[in-house]
Amino acid sequence: MGFPKGITLRGEVFHAVLRMNFLSLIESKRDGHELLPEAIAGFVRDFTAGRIPDYQMAALLMAICFRGMSSVETRALTLAMRDSGEVLAFPDDPRPIVDKHSTGGVGDKVSLPLAPLLACLGFRVPMISGRGLGITGGTLDKLESIPGLTTELEPKRLVEQVQRIGVAMGGQTESMVPADKKLYALRDVTGTVPSVPLITASILSKKLAEGLQALVMDVKFGCAAFMRTEFDARALADSIVSLAEACGVRAQALLTDMNTPLGRAVGNWLEVKEAIDFLEGRGPNDLNALVIECAARLLVLAERARDMADARAAATSCLASGAPRRKWDELIAAQGADLGAFGSQLAPDHTAPVVAELTAPRGGFISRCDARIIGEVVRDLGGGRLTRETVLNPAVGVDRLAKPGDQIKSGDVLCRIHAGTANDADAARARLMSAFELADFRPAAKPLFA
Ligand code: URA
Repeated sequence: MGFPKGITLRGEVFHAVLRMNFLSLIESKRDGHELLPEAIAGFVRDFTAGRIPDYQMAALLMAICFRGMSSVETRALTLAMRDSGEVLAFPDDPRPIVDKHSTGGVGDKVSLPLAPLLACLGFRVPMISGRGLGITGGTLDKLESIPGLTTELEPKRLVEQVQRIGVAMGGQTESMVPADKKLYALRDVTGTVPSVPLITASILSKKLAEGLQALVMDVKFGCAAFMRTEFDARALADSIVSLAEACGVRAQALLTDMNTPLGRAVGNWLEVKEAIDFLEGRGPNDLNALVIECAARLLVLAERARDMADARAAATSCLASGAPRRKWDELIAAQGADLGAFGSQLAPDHTAPVVAELTAPRGGFISRCDARIIGEVVRDLGGGRLTRETVLNPAVGVDRLAKPGDQIKSGDVLCRIHAGTANDADAARARLMSAFELADFRPAAKPLFA
């Protein structure tokens, strides 16, 4: 906490006063009071500097989970977190600075094709992404399945690359939003992730540190999403969009279904492969719909298109031109990828040691393809993390997923399992069977967008 100028406290005395002051903040939030913006800025600064113990911060986070935060408090928390580190500074340039952020899902590889598409549409895209945790995949993990590619871009290098080729895809460095790094790690192990103000501040502090002009949020709901219900997803979307707009960033949110995986591949390398198929015109329809929608929303937000119809047409024709596929190569080469090795890794059907098929016991229509079960199986095959220390196997996952509405015959493939060993594939097969349901009649199509 800040102390009045002129008062100096040394050593243990200082720490005792700090703990006392912070204790009164915890008590105040516990009792449902609103915290002052200066107090919030003070504790973010002190926690980042290691002057507040984790056990006290955990208590405050839990109090916030139960009591919530007003929009004034959430704004103060977001700005204090943004200002805990470096904020990207871009030279003046007519190309708007934009990004998209997803709350995370299974098979969600939208960022991979979207980033080069946006660069080709005339935007600057400083995309800072996260790692997967639990069953939701992370863009950084997918990118790191590419030979030689680095996602560790210091702010100076990131800005230089964005200025030069329009796009960079990196991770959060030590110098950007360190408060979020520390707070998120603590939330993750104290059951304090699912709080609208804390998620809003965590996401927006990072996006504001990118120096954005426009943001499109993909807020997922369903069995494999943070927000299980559309109602909760809408509350989070409203919170993020209204605060972003209040901070001078044009923003819109999409609410999208995450009961079914996006696309037909889940797993780090398999998703890169599917993203390349998409950039080459062979992508699945749901991925296409979401990528085009994100690009179109940004074109409208940045006033580069008259309306959504024009914007969708512009995004679709840019994609069809092949320019985003070429931009992809430029992007990964700029980040150290070996294009020859990338091409050689793309060429074979698979890179995992074992590939097994899960087949349908009878014919019918797929009525459920459960994203949570599939996400858990892929995580346990080695594609995701159970702890922060887990070393990922980029080759594992599932592909050729049968999706709701697909008509299948007995013996058709429900999915292929890419595993490290035959035992792993067998264990996955048994669990994956419960992810699929078959019906005798074609089920009503569930919309991707709420
Ligand atoms: N993603 C983030 O970056 N932060 C959260 O708190 C939740 C999802």
